[in-house]
Amino acid sequence: MVKETQYYDILGVKPSASPEEIKKAYRKLALKYHPDKNPDEGEKFKLISQAYEVLSDPKKRDIYDQGGEQAIKEGGSGSPSFSSPMDIFDMFFGGGGRMARERRGKNVVHQLSVTLEDLYNGVTKKLALQKNVICEKCEGVGGKKGSVEKCPLCKGRGMQVHIQQVGPGVVQQIQTVCVECKGQGERISPRDRCEICGGAKVTREKKIIEVHVEKGMKDGQKILFHGEGDQEPELEPGDVIIVLDQKDHSVFQRRGHDLIMKMKIQLSEALCGFKKMIKTLDDRVLVITSKAGEVIKHGDLKCVRDEGMPIYKAPLEKGTLIIQFLVTFPEKHWLPPDKLPQLEALLPPRHKRAGLAPAQGGLRGRRRRAAGRGAVPDGVSGALSVKLAR
Ligand SMILES: [Zn+2]
Ligand SMILES: [Zn+2]
Repeated sequence: MVKETQYYDILGVKPSASPEEIKKAYRKLALKYHPDKNPDEGEKFKLISQAYEVLSDPKKRDIYDQGGEQAIKEGGSGSPSFSSPMDIFDMFFGGGGRMARERRGKNVVHQLSVTLEDLYNGVTKKLALQKNVICEKCEGVGGKKGSVEKCPLCKGRGMQVHIQQVGPGVVQQIQTVCVECKGQGERISPRDRCEICGGAKVTREKKIIEVHVEKGMKDGQKILFHGEGDQEPELEPGDVIIVLDQKDHSVFQRRGHDLIMKMKIQLSEALCGFKKMIKTLDDRVLVITSKAGEVIKHGDLKCVRDEGMPIYKAPLEKGTLIIQFLVTFPEKHWLPPDKLPQLEALLPPRHKRAGLAPAQGGLRGRRRRAAGRGAVPDGVSGALSVKLAR
């Protein structure tokens, strides 16, 4: 039991979440609430960042689980400080941190929604981006050549100093960003400003990029477009970072290179055999057969080699398809009571030593083998056959 769940709630995960689930939750929320996309949600962005900073660090997560937010704020090092949300974001998405940010234009991070089919087959998607480019008219000057002058209000410092009286004979100096030049230290008088960018030096432009999603890529993978980010005068342009976001699939779940699916079969099929079709992610049909006389138990696993996901950069190799069988038992009273002796005569005999009175219905139907999630497929029934229908 954890003491508090607030940080987990912020990220929308359970306290039992795996590190991968926490990463994924942060990824989605951070992109959604990033000030570039959601300028009014700065506080939310900060909270997401703080929750992630604690929960992504096993030591801090442990401290939080045991003592809650209080314990984190009192933290081992004595400093309750969190990293800046932007630094956390840049570290996560590979922006290179504040140092790099000062020498380069901003990175633009975009999420690209893909299906499991896209990741299996590969796909090229076009994405329209808005980005800052150096104004063509004034070539990034912001006005006529020579029109840039030192800001008269702050005298080029970019900051304004206000003196405030806070008590008798006590004054305080407060520094704020200069309202006239917005911290630039220079300005262009209104009549000289470039009519295209209005003195901003850059313009917003729409740009289409082609994203090649390769076979075997995975959820959360980043695709980098070097130098395609925002441009700023005298700075190297930033990058565009595309983050793949895989939608859940209705049939298959991916685990590494493997695909996992559940297959419901009726009790009669489990006991008397069946033939079932599976549509693969590239639209082929696999035929799964259990011969008459074989028995499939609830939770049994069947592995089909080379029907998993293609391996990134080696797409001719594939992982394994793992089918987990779920046996559907009939509803109660499905058989008239007078027919039960007939059924029982066909079923394997009861264990005499169990000493249970002959019951109607009884335990047999309810006894289920718990099939562990992620169980390693060792107990595979070899009698099943898989054929590819052409
Ligand atoms: Zn100024
Ligand atoms: Zn311009």
